[in-house]
Amino acid sequence: MDDLERLATAVRDADTAVAFTGAGISAPSGVPTFRGDDGVWEQFDQGQFAYGRFQRDPEGFWADRVDLQRAMFDGEFEPNAAHEAVAAMGRDGHLEAVLTQNTDGLHGDAAAAIGEGDDGEADGESGATADEPTILELHGNSQRVRCTDCGKRTDGDPIFERAAGGELPPTCDCGGVFKPDVVLFGEQLPGAVLQRARSLARESDAFLAIGSSLVVEPAASLPRLAASTGGTVGIVNLESTPCDDVADAVVREDVTEALPRLQELIVE
Ligand SMILES: [Zn+2]
Repeated sequence: MDDLERLATAVRDADTAVAFTGAGISAPSGVPTFRGDDGVWEQFDQGQFAYGRFQRDPEGFWADRVDLQRAMFDGEFEPNAAHEAVAAMGRDGHLEAVLTQNTDGLHGDAAAAIGEGDDGEADGESGATADEPTILELHGNSQRVRCTDCGKRTDGDPIFERAAGGELPPTCDCGGVFKPDVVLFGEQLPGAVLQRARSLARESDAFLAIGSSLVVEPAASLPRLAASTGGTVGIVNLESTPCDDVADAVVREDVTEALPRLQELIVE
């Protein structure tokens, strides 16, 4: 049995299987990464997008954010074969939850495209019925905005257009300032979301980390949490990670090749 087969068996036999994804699953869709030589932070000054600046200077923050959004999300991104495989595993009842570090919303798009699941509603968590996996967007969703007063969340596109047209900062009907619905630098990850991610990792019999370097928190500690309670840990990533030592299976392959094969093996 190779590592992918071992992983397929673990996911199929698990009462609770959880997938955790990072930038590596969205890179094949053309979504630019933040870090690294070609990363967005080579073009933009990260400090200009910090929470402190949003609070101090929402007008300037939004002016720069419009440029950033254009650089990152101009053109339509589509879910790739790896997102689709994860969505299919969820549809078939093999995944309890999909946790992601990504803010591109592609897991929700993939789930919606295969006719199950909704499109990443409300508090970064979707999956209203028992059979649909929860999609937990740890860092939020950059395609949405949230009112800082009344908390209303709404589709970001029209709001970014308004900001691009000179409404700086864009505001809600209630008068509150909109903020991109993502966790900014200097802003804490929402405690409830983090707690949920940790308890899912602890509960999981199979924990599958996909396309994440597993270096920054909470990514770095989730596989260890899963392993500490006896869960089978699988890592699918092109490069080695600091969590490889606790993994039961390490698949060093392109996610768009490995995930569809994994999904087929599970179904077999
Ligand atoms: Zn409001």
